[in-house]
Amino acid sequence: MDIYSDIKYIKGVGPIMAETLNKCGIFNVLDLLLYFPRNYENVSAVKNIMDCEDNQKIIVECTVLNILKDQRLKNNKTLSTILFCQGENKFKGKWFNQTYAKNSFKNSNSYIITGKVNNFKGEITMMNPKIVKNTSMDTNKIIATYPLKNNVTNNFFNKIISDVLCNIEITENLPKWLLDKYRFCSLDEAIRSIHSPKSLELLNSAKKRLKFQELFTYSLKILMLKEFIKTNNDGIKFKIAPELTTLKERLPFNLTKAQSKVVREILIDQKKDKGMNRLLQGDVGSGKTIVAIITMFNVVKNGYQAAMMAPTEILANQHYEEIQNVLKDFPLTIKLLTGSTTPKNKELIKQELKNGTIDVIIGTHALIEDNVQFKNLGMIVTDEQHRFGVSQRNRFSNKGKNIDILVMTATPIPRTLSLYLYGDLDVSIIDELPPGRQNIDTSYESMTSSRHVYEFALSEINKGRQVYIVCPLVEENEEMKLSSVQVLYEKLKGEYFNSTEIAMVYGKMPSKQKNEIMDKFKTGEIKALICTTVIEVGVNVPNATVMIIENSERFGLAQLHQLRGRVGRGEHKSYCILLANITNKIVRKRLEIMIKSNDGFFIAEEDLKTRGAGELFGFKQHGESGLIIADVIEDINILKLANSEAKELIKSNNIEDIKVKNEITEKIQQSSNYICFN
Ligand code: ADP
Ligand code: MG
Repeated sequence: MDIYSDIKYIKGVGPIMAETLNKCGIFNVLDLLLYFPRNYENVSAVKNIMDCEDNQKIIVECTVLNILKDQRLKNNKTLSTILFCQGENKFKGKWFNQTYAKNSFKNSNSYIITGKVNNFKGEITMMNPKIVKNTSMDTNKIIATYPLKNNVTNNFFNKIISDVLCNIEITENLPKWLLDKYRFCSLDEAIRSIHSPKSLELLNSAKKRLKFQELFTYSLKILMLKEFIKTNNDGIKFKIAPELTTLKERLPFNLTKAQSKVVREILIDQKKDKGMNRLLQGDVGSGKTIVAIITMFNVVKNGYQAAMMAPTEILANQHYEEIQNVLKDFPLTIKLLTGSTTPKNKELIKQELKNGTIDVIIGTHALIEDNVQFKNLGMIVTDEQHRFGVSQRNRFSNKGKNIDILVMTATPIPRTLSLYLYGDLDVSIIDELPPGRQNIDTSYESMTSSRHVYEFALSEINKGRQVYIVCPLVEENEEMKLSSVQVLYEKLKGEYFNSTEIAMVYGKMPSKQKNEIMDKFKTGEIKALICTTVIEVGVNVPNATVMIIENSERFGLAQLHQLRGRVGRGEHKSYCILLANITNKIVRKRLEIMIKSNDGFFIAEEDLKTRGAGELFGFKQHGESGLIIADVIEDINILKLANSEAKELIKSNNIEDIKVKNEITEKIQQSSNYICFN
């Protein structure tokens, strides 16, 4: 067995279980070993059962005294009981609705069992005891619990991992000087301890080493990409088209200072014979789209094609309308390609992209399908980049040669962090909103007082305005008592909004229907939109002045800020009302932050403090960034250290270091593109 062996050959796995594990992303031994536990359970080995505490998880050696008859209980459950003894002391093992469980036990035999105990005034009961094989009673145990699904049990998972660990040795991959310098344990030890730690100390030292490992490799990748880009990055040397002056004169508004600055930065990149790799950050509503339009226009006037990809059809449609409007005085061919483009039209567009008839294409994921080819693509723009996976972005940039790349995001990344995370990208920031924007009046209310919030919404509608109501769920869910689009729609339709035109929108709806509703909302025919976060990114309806967010405690602050940015886009005073189940201080504190600030950067920093970066950046997605155990926020100090050591390694000419570098270079080249955003 080696780390690349297929898991179906592991003892006890077999083809059916293999398929189930595949669904968890586990295909070979390496995947299995990198499937790290979510948590650990302390199991105490108790010598005397009378010493155990209520609710403690224990492991104990005992003998079966008596297997009692099953009992049928009133609530239709069946209770099975075994009476165990440990020396003089007796205790009961109980199972509900698992009549087969007792079959593993025989009278008078001894077993080592584990389970949680209730200690009720000295009367001890273990719930759902399980037999533990191949174990000894000499130490307490730390048992890993894994994030499993599809009926894979934790016991089974622990067992196959321990089998694998018996049959494999893992080769070291950090240079010796690093191991010595930080007294890291070996990779082999670290992997063993992360899965079955012999002690808390060993677990902690495994975590420390693995976190460093991830962040070190990550930093090396970023730094080497930067090198690679410097030396292998031929670009197209665009000129500044004379028509740009005319375009700027004819824009529907004056650019803000920040917008002009960013346009300049991009044009400077375009003039170079190096390719552009630029990240444009700008708060919601700061006007990133126009920057993309102006710079794409320059590329087109140089005789090249430009493409812009958005994460949703609604957004692609909106960009398409804006670009047509802004460039209406110029004879360009601009088209839209999305999932709901008819097959006939799609074919035509593909031909026109290939033969160069189309100058600018706006679209969704449809743009990165294999058979979409360009004649001479010069620039691509990815809007709301965090909504796309790395591979999608890579496929997009592989549509052309030496193209300039602009990615845009409204998710502000704190500066300290972006240096480490986006080392391979140049960053532009729009830190100013267009003039005349009003402050959005933000408040929060308990979910229980939603009544007068809807009444307020109605009064705004009666003044001619429009309203968004965002829910965390689409359908009702028994387990999670949260607002859902469908239930709320029915409720509002039947009550407050019975004589108002309202509609619902959510992601899984057919695109055609979704687009129709969005169009009607834009024209003002629909007054209130009950929706999920599909409307989170970019949607622009200036007449909408009220944003109500249901169960807002379920959303990240950065996301709430994005949602709030959907209103306050026109001349009328706008409101954002956060309905929440205020169950604790943290919820209240987070809501207060939203009220206090309208600055996306500040909110993002606060958001990070209260919940970690994982979700915000999609970092924890296995395989995207390679970070499984490290958290860029929590572990920022390790990140800094790893970054500086990575720089040392790159400079080094020591043979061992060169070997490490070569391995990583190989990995970078395997992925078809050298762009690494996460
Ligand atoms: P975002 O950065 O969130 O993508 P958009 O590009 O959608 O923002 O711009 C938001 C709105 O502001 C649009 O209606 C756009 O036309 C308008 N806008 C952009 N720049 C300016 C400006 N300099 N002055 C006035 N309005 C502007
Ligand atoms: Mg936008």
